[in-house]
Amino acid sequence: MPKVTDVRNVIVIGGGPAGYTAALYAARANLEPLVIEGFNWGGQLMITSDVENYPGYADGVMGPAMMQDFRRQAERFGAEFVTDDVTRVDFSERPFRVWVGDDEYRAEAVIVATGATARQLGLESERVLQGRGVSYCATCDAAFYKERETIIVGGGDSAMEEAIFLAKFASKVTIVHRRDEFRASQIMFDRAKAIDNIELLTPYVVEEFLPAEGGLLGSARVRNTETGEERDLPMSGAFVAVGHVPQSEIVEGVVDTDDDGYVAVDGRSTRTRVPGMFAAGDLVDHTYRQAVTAAGSGCQAALDAEWYLRDNPHVPTPEALAGTGDLAEEQWVPHEPVRQ
Ligand code: NAP
Repeated sequence: MPKVTDVRNVIVIGGGPAGYTAALYAARANLEPLVIEGFNWGGQLMITSDVENYPGYADGVMGPAMMQDFRRQAERFGAEFVTDDVTRVDFSERPFRVWVGDDEYRAEAVIVATGATARQLGLESERVLQGRGVSYCATCDAAFYKERETIIVGGGDSAMEEAIFLAKFASKVTIVHRRDEFRASQIMFDRAKAIDNIELLTPYVVEEFLPAEGGLLGSARVRNTETGEERDLPMSGAFVAVGHVPQSEIVEGVVDTDDDGYVAVDGRSTRTRVPGMFAAGDLVDHTYRQAVTAAGSGCQAALDAEWYLRDNPHVPTPEALAGTGDLAEEQWVPHEPVRQ
């Protein structure tokens, strides 16, 4: 039987660094948040092995273990979790409504932190061979390709980073990029280029992935974008590193997004066009996309939500909020500290 819950102060949608940090701050502010964390909670960190650049973990930490820690810390202060995916939202009036299947959850403020996923090339053969040689995470899968020939598709920093990692295992890594120029930073490009078993193939695109006997990836058909020449590269593993796509489907049409689907926020805040809805993490971040920046943004969202709830006990009209200018600072009303 579908259930409709009592109205919460805050619902956090998303279970990555941004979502759990928002939940932690909201819980510590006595907002009793409900976190609808997704069926595959944990986000991209769940497919990351060693995390060595998250401050506080001096000896490094495995991505999934770090996400367990984040989740546990939010839970310790009373955050509650629904381990399922949001299927629909209605933010046209307060309380906001969020559905997981037939179950309806309601809240006065919502923080959306649904993250981003690896962009695909969009080939049918890519879909079919995913997990059978086509991968989006060298850090996760490189060890399966010891002494094998592999390719990386892409020309950004991710492609370089993946290639450098993969080259420790594979006999050969060919970086296939669609232009002669690389988007990657010079330092990453130079590092990759200096490694003996990394080769560059430009300007080429993958036309198709072809299976070998047994249904595993056997080769990739690549095409020169200038001459049209085609050739088949034999390989066992292909790693696609062509950027990320923000997971903004559930709020499409609700908030403003840019051409790439990233949710637009007001200046340095996490406020969206919808008063009371905040967006955080990779969902809004083209540039930095780090666990630590996502966590920081989740913290901001919880503070923005707290200030919003304090200042807007009633439904504000868009007109009332128009012209409030930049940002969180203006929402801040000095008050006596209530927590030690
Ligand atoms: P990115 O910088 O957007 O690069 C994506 C690459 O994929 C580009 O070279 C692009 O080609 C190519 N591409 C996109 N769509 C394609 C398609 N359909 N077919 C073939 N190629 C396609 O993404 P990213 O490398 O994931 O990096 C994202 C951000 O994270 C950047 O700011 C980056 O600096 C940062 N980052 C930093 C590090 C580091 O410093 N250690 C590591 C990883 C990421 P074009 O160039 O032709 O557009």
